[in-house]
This record gives sequence, C-alpha cells and structure tokens, in this order.
Amino acid sequence: MLKYFFIFLLGLCIGSFLNVLIDRLSKRESILGRSYCPYCKRTLRWYELIPVLSFVFLRGRCRGCKKRISLQYPLVELTTGVLFTATVYYLNLTDKGLVFDISHLISLVCLLFIISCLIVIFMTDLKYMIVPDEIIYPAIVSGIVYQVINWRMARLENWYYPLLAGVVPFLFFLFLVLVTKGKGMGFGDVKIALFMGIFLSWPNILVALSLAFFSGAIIGLILVALKKKGLKSEIPFACFLAPATLVTLFWGEQIVEWYLGII
Ligand SMILES: [Zn+2]
Repeated sequence: MLKYFFIFLLGLCIGSFLNVLIDRLSKRESILGRSYCPYCKRTLRWYELIPVLSFVFLRGRCRGCKKRISLQYPLVELTTGVLFTATVYYLNLTDKGLVFDISHLISLVCLLFIISCLIVIFMTDLKYMIVPDEIIYPAIVSGIVYQVINWRMARLENWYYPLLAGVVPFLFFLFLVLVTKGKGMGFGDVKIALFMGIFLSWPNILVALSLAFFSGAIIGLILVALKKKGLKSEIPFACFLAPATLVTLFWGEQIVEWYLGII
C-alpha cells in the first residue's frame, strides 16, 4: 500500500509542475521563475504551493487579490496522482522486480513521463489550442525508448510494428492537414499521431485513433447541437487523442479482443 501512497504523492507534485508548464509554455514564458498569481502577479509563498491542499485551505481564492483560482490547478494535480498510481497498479510494474531491474525502471519512468506529456498536451490544446513542441518531441523520444526497452525484454520479432504504426498515421494526418489547409487539424495533431503510433504500436494505434475520432465526432455534434460551436469551428483534436492514448494504454488488448469477438 505504501508504494501506492508514495507514487500518488509523487504524481501530485509532478502535477503541480505540469500546471506551470501548461501556462508558461503556452505563453512562451520561462519555466524557471517563482510561481505567481495570474491576476495580481504576487509571488506565491511556499504554503500556497502545496498540491491540492493549498487550494482547499485557501478555498480556491488568491490570498492577495481574492480572485478565484482556476479548478485546473487541483484537477491536473489529482489527475496526475491518480494516473501515476493507476500505472503502477494496473500495469503491475513494481511486482516484476522493478527495483533491481533497470529495464523495468526505465520502462516505468518512460510511462510516467509520457502520461505527464499527455496531460500537458490535453490542457494546452483545450485552453490555448496549441501543442507545444517542447512536450511532443520529448514524448516521441520517450516512446521510442519505451519500445526499444520492450523489444529487449520481450525479444519481439516484429520490431518494425511501432515504426509502421507511427509512420502510417503520421502520413495520413499530414495528408488531412494539407488537404484541409489546417482548418480541421493542425501540425500538432500530426506529431501526436506519430507519437501515438510509436508508443502504442500495431494494432493498438487503430483502437486509439478510432476512439479519438468517435469521441471527437460525438462531442463535436453535442457542442453543435447545444450551439456552443458552429459546424466549421476548430475542435481541439489533441483533447481526444490524448485520452484515447491513455484508454488504449490501459485497455487496448481487451478492446482488440472484444472487437475481434464481434466480427
Ligand atoms: Zn492574486
């Protein structure tokens, strides 16, 4: 139990840092300076920076200007904590001799890093409609490292699956962006497609892309029906790609089996 508690705390702290990345990368600010209130620019004290707890004790308001603090901050922290814990629990990584096995340790670090990147991508696309290169390129490298470690551990023969799974969606998305002249999707989505293919490999990439397209279409239609968006307005597609990647990471095999059972 204790290890889950620690990984949850680690997730909360990383989540706090992800909040900084989300806002500062999007606004092209340095990520190094002290944290400040976005309204009154007052530098925050240490006790205002404790993940989730500070938000609760300050009742969601800045101590200086009393403006409401966005729910984004505790939500991103909690999500990171929960996903980190779920990764260690669900993928059962620690019971494979994690501490003594450098391959599993690297594999776990890659997974936690990739989950962090996906959270940032989801939020920056939702909030600012951008996918920062500073996040997606390291995610791609991390996906490659994760696959290389997996090949080494499992001695897979079909080592080119992740490569094909990355390149084919990459070209498909690139084609879509060039044909629609970037009105539907952007180059950020093209890079995410490449990352997803390398990380999820074949056939899971198909699961993830189907999930993203279906959920995107459904939510898009709901928004149009509610008249929140017009038919031609841009939809932040990374907001569907990122969760689809996570769902596939955790349940990809089950979804493939279920699907093969139907046809
Ligand atoms: Zn303030």
